[in-house]
Amino acid sequence: MDTFFNLPEKVVFCKKCVLSNQRPSSIPEFKHTKNRPGAKYLNIDPLTGICDACKVAEIKNINIDWEQREKELLKVLDKHRSKNKDYDCIVPGSGGKDSVLASHILKYKYGMNPLTITWPPILYTDYGYKNFRNWIEIGGFDNLTFNQNGRVMKLLTKLSIQNLLHPFQTFILGQKNLAPKIANKFNIPLVFYGESEAEYGNPIADHNSSLRKNEFYTYKNIKDLYLAGCSIGYLEEKFGLSLKDLSIFFPIEKKSLENFDLNIHYLGYYIKWIPQEAYYYAVENSSFKARPFRTEGTYSKYNSIDDKIDDLHYYTTFVKYGLGRTSYDASQEIRNKHLNLNEGKLLVKKYDGEFPERYFDEIMDYIEMDKNEFHRLCDEFRSPHLWVNTNKDGYKLRHTVNEDGEND
Ligand SMILES: [Zn+2]
Repeated sequence: MDTFFNLPEKVVFCKKCVLSNQRPSSIPEFKHTKNRPGAKYLNIDPLTGICDACKVAEIKNINIDWEQREKELLKVLDKHRSKNKDYDCIVPGSGGKDSVLASHILKYKYGMNPLTITWPPILYTDYGYKNFRNWIEIGGFDNLTFNQNGRVMKLLTKLSIQNLLHPFQTFILGQKNLAPKIANKFNIPLVFYGESEAEYGNPIADHNSSLRKNEFYTYKNIKDLYLAGCSIGYLEEKFGLSLKDLSIFFPIEKKSLENFDLNIHYLGYYIKWIPQEAYYYAVENSSFKARPFRTEGTYSKYNSIDDKIDDLHYYTTFVKYGLGRTSYDASQEIRNKHLNLNEGKLLVKKYDGEFPERYFDEIMDYIEMDKNEFHRLCDEFRSPHLWVNTNKDGYKLRHTVNEDGEND
């Protein structure tokens, strides 16, 4: 059967969580093109039936000496800690629980002087914006917010939906690429993100380092870059955009790091990072508030709630990979032992793939797309090995974690 995006042909679910081998591993977002050549997916050990993300969680729970890791962190911090009024590290974020936790402990527990930086969401939710303000005002941080060229942001967001069915790409590009550039400009060579992507299913080896690999935030040749699945030349020619319009979305040029020893760390390597605890910490220290209602497509209220487009993003992962937001949330909570596998499966059955109606009209208005066009695009991106068109009931998954798919 045909598969799209280089997906594994046979769908296999992990024995411990609710993810399958169709879960994409991170690729540098600026290399993302429609067919995802060479893309890798969650590895599931053929002998044990357990995925890399579950293995990483197990290691985290049993095999890591967290006291030793904290000592390693102190070494890094002592090397960079400012002795005067200068900033000594950068924490990127938009005021979600993870950036609150990272910046707060760096400043108040470890005596660092972080500059927080923000690439704002595409469409802020009002409670998300409030959380952002509270981070700065109650948490007490200097913040540099980079407001994007709205016209370019909107066009690229629309194109990334049309070309990649990826509504969130412009946000991800900025979230990953802005920090290295600001670090370089302000000469602050230490950047902290919260968790490593390995927590959620990148190759297990990625978990053995605190450092973000520079292939994820640098480029050598502009010919290798893609935005919204388009080459830069195409965007210039077709839409009259200039390099000046586009370059803020690029990663940093490799050669500008030649004389700048940039270190991008994951704090989650050094301290045990549990999303639910990050949430409680953010509530306590910066009056972080969960969403006042359940997030469509899942059961949770406090994960990634500051961008209206995020809900649609997870709907598109359901279309492309058969895994919606509940699959991601429940798997993570199963690994942290807040849910058992059966509870996770029931939640998937109840909520996964639920269409995010709440902000849909507003998003379509923002990018000036007809609603039917969006649904047509979704069908265009359904890989035949995952979906079957039943005509009567529309598209159905062939395989689910509950084994109630059309072909299970
Ligand atoms: Zn798993």
